[in-house]
Formats: sequence, structure tokens, C-alpha cells
Amino acid sequence: MRSLAYKGNRELAIEEVAEPPLASGEVRVRVHSTGLCKSDVYGYSGLNDRRDAVIGEGESLVMGHEVSGFVSELGANIDNLELGTAVAVNPILGCGECRYCAAGDENLCSKRAVLGCAPATPGGYAEMIVAPASNLFPLGQDTPLEIGALAEPLCVGAHGLRLADPGSTDSVLVIGGGIVGIGAALAARRRVGDRVLVLEPIAERRVICEQLGLKTADPSEVLGSGAQFDVALDCVARPETFAGAIRAVPLKGIVVLVGIWEDEIPLPVSDVVGRETRIYGSYGYSSADFQDVVDWIGSNELDLAPIIERRVGFDEVIAAFDGYADGSVNPVRTLFQPFPEKAEAAQ
Ligand SMILES: [Zn+2]
Ligand SMILES: [Zn+2]
Repeated sequence: MRSLAYKGNRELAIEEVAEPPLASGEVRVRVHSTGLCKSDVYGYSGLNDRRDAVIGEGESLVMGHEVSGFVSELGANIDNLELGTAVAVNPILGCGECRYCAAGDENLCSKRAVLGCAPATPGGYAEMIVAPASNLFPLGQDTPLEIGALAEPLCVGAHGLRLADPGSTDSVLVIGGGIVGIGAALAARRRVGDRVLVLEPIAERRVICEQLGLKTADPSEVLGSGAQFDVALDCVARPETFAGAIRAVPLKGIVVLVGIWEDEIPLPVSDVVGRETRIYGSYGYSSADFQDVVDWIGSNELDLAPIIERRVGFDEVIAAFDGYADGSVNPVRTLFQPFPEKAEAAQ
């Protein structure tokens, strides 16, 4: 099969590799769509060393952790999936044995692996991906496969919202109108109705949010204006957005950091202490979060298509990485589709 191999030091190559054997409980999925995530782009461009750090001498990494596809081969001991089933892939593989996994917090398992984030667990920039059956979530009958590939990033925001746990009459501020912010805002809307505001400086992204029915504003109109929200989710995590989020919630307000801009940013201590602000970090999502988001996507309550701004096959995928890396393109989501003809037929 063909796959896109990352070798470190900004080197991507399309390679022909053997399909790995299936262990008991594992499934081979024919990839339909894999979202290009900024974490992959930043790893590739050298903005951070998260991807290079995991690649050993002579190894390469198949990235891509936002995957949908069709079940194409079943390993032994699987009785709950059929060939041809359309699925979204939860890429977080917990050990299944530790206290965090037992509590349903696989995202915090210290032995977790993530598909697409280490050479031993190849991801979805390939024709096929292998995952445990328990990490595959069948899509609803009418859910386009492309939309299935959005489940993972939307889930990152939805998990942050679950940690914030707003009441049904609370107001929610979401800072950042990328896909994680969109995931947080849509999850918020399911809880609090239209008392959700998304802050996003890029006008085109505000338009996409509005196409999804979300209220938006430029951050400069809201942060520092005195406007107050019961809960704020900072999906940008720059110093100014974090401080803005802290000042936008009332006494005992809740701020959730969903994302990392830099390893360290300043904390406005007087505000936090004097106002007893509660600050949470949010990382990834649990299997239960994933199921919730796939169920909601399957309800077809909302057409999520505006999020997908570009599609690329093997011929354009490296150029797409370069475009994101040099800033010349910035779609909310570009989907990699290894079988473009079939992708079209399956819409
Ligand atoms: Zn991602
Ligand atoms: Zn574990």
C-alpha cells in the first residue's frame, strides 16, 4: 500500500510499504479521509519537535490521527463489526489496565499510544490503517465519510466543554474559531442553546462559524470590554487570550485551556486569586466523548460541510503540508483522501 512517510527534518515521502499483519482484536480500515491537523504541520515544519522526537534512527512516521474509512479486514476475535462498515477512528489507545483507563480517562493513561504519533502506531496518511476494534465507531447510515473524519478534532473541543460543565442557563465564551473551537462551541450549543459566542480574528473563519449557526465576534470587540460569561474556553492559549478569558468570567468563573501555544505563558495571579477563578487543562478526549460526538454527527442536526475547505490526494498532500507550513494556505480542514475517485462515489 502507499503511505506518506515522515522521516524527520522536514522530509516527507510517498512510499510503497507492506500492509502490517493484524493481531487479535485488530481491524484494517481502508482510509476514506484523514484531516490535516496543525499538530502534524507544526511537527513537520519544525515549529515544535513533537513529531521528530519520536522518530528513531532509520525509522519513519506515518502521521494522521483524524481518520474515517471502511472496515476492510478483521483480525481474530471480533464479532461486533462487519466488512464494509463506515467508521471514524479514535486514535487514542489506552493500556486498558491502569486506574485512568478504568475510569474512562484513556487520554491520561501514561502508557497510551496515539495512532499517527509514533512509528509503532502508524496513522491515516496511507491507504490503510490498523486499529483495535474497540477504537472504531460506526458512522450513522446517512453520515458522509468526510464528516466522519471531523469527529476527532471536534471531540477535542467537546471534551473541554465537558470539563467546563456549564449549566443549561450559563453563557459560554469560546476563544478561537478553528476546528477545536468549533467543536467546543457546537458542544456548548447542545447544552446552553444560543448563549455561545466564538471569538475569531480571521473574517473568513467567522463566516464559516456563522454558516454553522454560531454567533461570532472579533476578539478585540469582546476581550477587555467588560463582557462577562459564566465559562470561557481558550482554544488558542496565547498570553493575551488566556488573560482575556480569565477577565471575561465572573467570581468563581471557569476557564478551560484547550490547547498549547507555548509551554509557558504568564498567569494574571491577582485576578485568579482575588476572584477564585477555576482553571482547568483539557487534553484529548475519552472514548465516551468520542461516542457522544459520533452520535451527534449521526443525528445530522447540522451540515458540517463548510468546515472542509480542501481535499488532496497523494499527488498534492506534500504541497498541502508546505502551504500550511509557510502560511500561504490555511483552510479550517484539508482532508487527505488516498482514493479520490472512491471518495467521491461514497459521498
Ligand atoms: Zn489533531
Ligand atoms: Zn491505561
